[in-house]
Amino acid sequence: MTALLETRGVWQRFSGLIANSDISISVGRGEIVGLIGPNGAGKSTLFNLIAGVLPPTQGSIWFDGEDVTRLPAAERCVRGIGRTFQVVKSFETMTVIDNVIVGALVRTTVMREARRKAHEVLEFAGLAARADVMASELIPSEKRRLEVARALATEPKLLLLDEVLTGLTPIEAQTGVELVRRVRDTGVTVLMVEHVMEIVMPLVDRAIVLDLGKVLVEGKPADIVREPKVISAYLGD
Ligand code: ADP
Ligand code: MG
Repeated sequence: MTALLETRGVWQRFSGLIANSDISISVGRGEIVGLIGPNGAGKSTLFNLIAGVLPPTQGSIWFDGEDVTRLPAAERCVRGIGRTFQVVKSFETMTVIDNVIVGALVRTTVMREARRKAHEVLEFAGLAARADVMASELIPSEKRRLEVARALATEPKLLLLDEVLTGLTPIEAQTGVELVRRVRDTGVTVLMVEHVMEIVMPLVDRAIVLDLGKVLVEGKPADIVREPKVISAYLGD
């Protein structure tokens, strides 16, 4: 079986700066893969190329056996690439349930069906009790879970998470880790970008380390944390 996601020789240049340099990675079905690396390594850029926010300068992106390089973000979402967004202002003036209904409307135009899906996903994310409050009233860790819930409501095959565990208390981060595990247990593949290694390493099946826009090393978490190249990339940060 082919990988669910593949980037083939992907480059991203911003005027003079090379943010992604010849990146070829793959994510297998059912895996939790961590995309890690120091600040400025190119993680968010690669995330945006995969989600379809930006077209790559060069190279191609394959999802579920199809070349999606030229597809806009909304089309990729329909194909099954779900992602978290920062909760933007307009969403803050909506209730929690309405935020999630926005995601569910990717799959159905029947409002009753979208609402049922949103309730199911809020229950899963531990936010059922907060369904009718304004998103602006949520504490930061609840907002992260709302982002995950909205992405799950789009019924993704691949869930892209950008630093959803960063900046949480240890207990909140643990709740987040458990949520990601439960997501995977429902059959969703996860690619998560995180800066802090300690948070992601216990969770992921495989880690891909970026540094200076390139893949530095990839492998099992236990091997990665002992890799001298990785240690010096982080210490040089
Ligand atoms: P990371 O997420 O690993 O911290 P980024 O992908 O955000 O790294 O950034 C990689 C490099 O690309 C950085 O040097 C950053 O300043 C640069 N960069 C990112 N986005 C842009 C942009 N839209 N325009 C110009 N430079 C950018
Ligand atoms: Mg980033």
